Amino acid sequence: MCGACDRPIASNITPIKALGRTYHPGHIKCYHCYCPLTEKTGAKERQQRVYCRKDYKELFLPKCRACHLPVEKEAVSAVDGKLKGKWHLNCFGCHTCHQPFPDNTFYVFENLPYCRRHYHQLNNSLCRTCDEPIEGPCAQTIEGWRFHPACFKCNVCRCAITDVYYMYERRIYCETHIQQLQKQRNVRAEKRRTQFGRI
Ligand SMILES: [Zn+2]
Ligand SMILES: [Zn+2]
Ligand SMILES: [Zn+2]
Ligand SMILES: [Zn+2]
Ligand SMILES: [Zn+2]
Ligand SMILES: [Zn+2]
Repeated sequence: MCGACDRPIASNITPIKALGRTYHPGHIKCYHCYCPLTEKTGAKERQQRVYCRKDYKELFLPKCRACHLPVEKEAVSAVDGKLKGKWHLNCFGCHTCHQPFPDNTFYVFENLPYCRRHYHQLNNSLCRTCDEPIEGPCAQTIEGWRFHPACFKCNVCRCAITDVYYMYERRIYCETHIQQLQKQRNVRAEKRRTQFGRI
């Protein structure tokens, strides 16, 4: 018997089973979109309500944080608990370049996964001289420019600067070479102290 019209359901018809009863196809509707439920639309239950398969996915399944579509089976969630949410297996990659993580290691920035390079790009921790990530000791100017300490060099002699530097036309000079420059032209350079830290 159909739970809606109370008539028998012929044996050659596949009934829709929902909430402990059986129905003629089309005699029960989706709670969300009111479409008649058939074998094609599917019927999924949740908290004493019936939904078509499509709405059920949209409404209740977790969404992939990369493509925003529902995640059914093949989900990736970060094992270390550093990241919240789920991803499709094929969607889990760097949020900037979309490359997968071949060795399964990734960096987290604002709760999204990134490859090493793109993490450091966002984190302002790419060295301004060699363009490689800084992970460890770091020299920083008051403009916020960051360098590997060995890459923080005078523009003329290329010696590493360990304390005082001079900035002139967005270039870095040691004391000797800013003085040399000042003999040639009227250069007003600002004397500054390097900040050393760790990233
Ligand atoms: Zn019926
Ligand atoms: Zn629906
Ligand atoms: Zn996805
Ligand atoms: Zn990347
Ligand atoms: Zn460097
Ligand atoms: Zn120099």
